[in-house]
Amino acid sequence: MTLDLLAQRAAPMLGIGWMELIVLAVIGLIAIVIVLVIVVRASSSAPPVGPVANCPVCHHAVSPWAAACPQCGHPFQQQR
Ligand SMILES: [Zn+2]
Repeated sequence: MTLDLLAQRAAPMLGIGWMELIVLAVIGLIAIVIVLVIVVRASSSAPPVGPVANCPVCHHAVSPWAAACPQCGHPFQQQR
């Protein structure tokens, strides 16, 4: 589609001219960019998996919140 034709049809309907169309387009683009930035920040600020502790017995990588090693069953003392 041609933007010229669109503007010629839309402008009289809406009672606005090229400048208004451009301003609206810019405002729309800015809004889209703001939404994208918010979405990217929200997804990147998601909680990480967390520090991974290693089992002192079998060196299996274990979540520090685990009560016991899933590999060998070695019990963990909560560090906090
Ligand atoms: Zn273990």
